[in-house]
Amino acid sequence: MITAAALLAERVGDVLALSGFYETEPWGFRSDNTFLNAALQLETALPPLELLAATQAIELEMGRTHKSDGTYHDRIIDIDILLYDDLVMQTSELTIPHPLMLERLFVMEPLSEIAPNVIHPVFGKPVISLMPE
Ligand code: ADP
Ligand code: MG
Repeated sequence: MITAAALLAERVGDVLALSGFYETEPWGFRSDNTFLNAALQLETALPPLELLAATQAIELEMGRTHKSDGTYHDRIIDIDILLYDDLVMQTSELTIPHPLMLERLFVMEPLSEIAPNVIHPVFGKPVISLMPE
């Protein structure tokens, strides 16, 4: 996570805010690892699709565990774009705001720490008021 933040700062733009790290229990199939979630705010000159390309490149570079046979790849980092100014877009590659963010406490908790008053452009309400139960 620190590595991802450092790479984002290097390639994408200045980090304006970084939340604390929230540890969450995995829900789903693999139960031996916990997840660490954080939100960060970046100031970037990259348009949305270039931003996505940059985050995906970082995911790829970071997320590979090289086994001796060279075939096993496991992604250990997931970088999602939650909001981009007050942009609303929906393409096959990229949907902004992130369509699942409102359902996920592990997203909304760190986001509301750094951007409680930012207005969600679809719902027209501040992030803090959209926290899931
Ligand atoms: P998840 O984030 O749900 O674990 P992935 O990280 O594998 O899933 O993302 C799958 C695809 O989601 C990406 O290839 C990307 O094109 C697409 N995508 C759509 N909207 C977004 C977004 N806002 N942020 C990041 N990826 C997105
Ligand atoms: Mg993702």
